Amino acid sequence: MIDALPAKGVPADQILAELRALRGGDLPTHGGRLFAYVYDPALDGLDELARAAHAVSASVNGLDPTAFPSLLAMENALVGAAAKLLGGNAGTVGSVTSGGTESLILAVKAARDAHPEVANPRLVVPSTAHAAFAKAAHYLRVALDVVPVKDLRADPAAMAAVIGPETVLIAASAPSYAHGVVDPIPEIAAIAEERGVRFHVDACFGGWILPYLRRLGADLPDFDLSLPGVTSISVDLHKYAYAPKGVSILLHATEELRRPQYFAYADWPGYTMINPVISSTRSGGPIAAALATLRSIGDEGYLGLAASTREAVRILSDAVTAVDGIFLYAPAETSVVCLGSDGVDLFVLADELAARGWHTQPQMAYRELEPTIHLTVTAAVWATAESFAPDLADAVAATRARGPIALPDLPPLTPEMITPALVAELAAGLGLGGGDFSRMAPVNALLNAAPPDLREALLTGFLSLLQRPAALTEPDPDALG
Ligand SMILES: *Cc1c(COP(=O)(O)O)cnc(C)c1O
Repeated sequence: MIDALPAKGVPADQILAELRALRGGDLPTHGGRLFAYVYDPALDGLDELARAAHAVSASVNGLDPTAFPSLLAMENALVGAAAKLLGGNAGTVGSVTSGGTESLILAVKAARDAHPEVANPRLVVPSTAHAAFAKAAHYLRVALDVVPVKDLRADPAAMAAVIGPETVLIAASAPSYAHGVVDPIPEIAAIAEERGVRFHVDACFGGWILPYLRRLGADLPDFDLSLPGVTSISVDLHKYAYAPKGVSILLHATEELRRPQYFAYADWPGYTMINPVISSTRSGGPIAAALATLRSIGDEGYLGLAASTREAVRILSDAVTAVDGIFLYAPAETSVVCLGSDGVDLFVLADELAARGWHTQPQMAYRELEPTIHLTVTAAVWATAESFAPDLADAVAATRARGPIALPDLPPLTPEMITPALVAELAAGLGLGGGDFSRMAPVNALLNAAPPDLREALLTGFLSLLQRPAALTEPDPDALG
């Protein structure tokens, strides 16, 4: 256990050694073998540059751009670069946020607050839209209309049919996270324009790679602000711009569209608070690190990284199609490889791949969709991609040999029945007590069989079990010195 408030301060060398030792237990963020959470361009010296840039601005506060004009200049530079990449023009404005979720919450807030006359505002999304839209709807008390997709893509006609007088925003993905396919953005934009409703394109995932894939010849539709019906678009710099965590951009087609995104408050004795984003105090560190990353890689650099990623996607897709029992669940048209199963237990397969050093992301069954395995492919994967095929074939053979997971006989559970004690008992029974998460198939199989509300209750209970303050348990005199 770590004592975050030792009686006497600890020497710097020791603190850093402890932090490095802790990091040793994490999944590998470099090396092209982790297909979720991290985005790695595998460029020498980039980490060091981003860290140094972060250090320069870490103590600068984005709360007040008149006090720290450096941050304003950096933000305007980042927004300008995003606008240029994503079809903006002289009227385009934007904000730097802490991540995709914040960008989406703010897009929904701006749309909601643009319509104070609508008592019960609604948001229309395809069923493949990112969960952050549901979070935005929940936080902002906006009703969510989830429209079924057709062949994994948003269905423009079905979305049009749901738009009503209370609809303040419609949204679609370019591409969707789960399957990596691009929604028919031009068709939806035309509907949005005709109906006079705001349309947000969630390009959080792909916004920094799609323009380059298109330049390389990929057959992908227009998806950005160059389409008249698109009123806002988001892109995460901590994904395919390869910036360190904590930076996304939300662009609006016009200043007027952005106005209701701001929160302003002068009615208290302190400083007048004018916030474009959710946080008020915010560090300049991630923003400086993102700027350094963009300037270091440059436009030609991103084109090269997109080419490596595209080649890696091709190699991995070929590996999937070559093995009996698994197949490409979605066309690998962007930077995701999503594999489906034909008789192979994908949760066991994910464990078998992990045992061979390939860390993938299992996705549960959802409505009519089967479980899948998701691979986010980044430029770093290109160097290791060729060694994936033999390991995949081997892992599939091992999966068949192990056979599918047999679910334990459990009494039918409902979310209301999920108590901390029950979660602790289930977790112990599934072997999760000791912090070893390498054999997740039984857990995933159990969650997959549960309806979404039960899944939410179980995982909330589990996370809550993990998140216990260290300082309130008995200190271990032997731990970490
Ligand atoms: C990652 C992602 C988000 C959420 O972004 P965070 O940075 O994790 O908050 C939203 N939409 C899509 C399509 C994404 O891939």
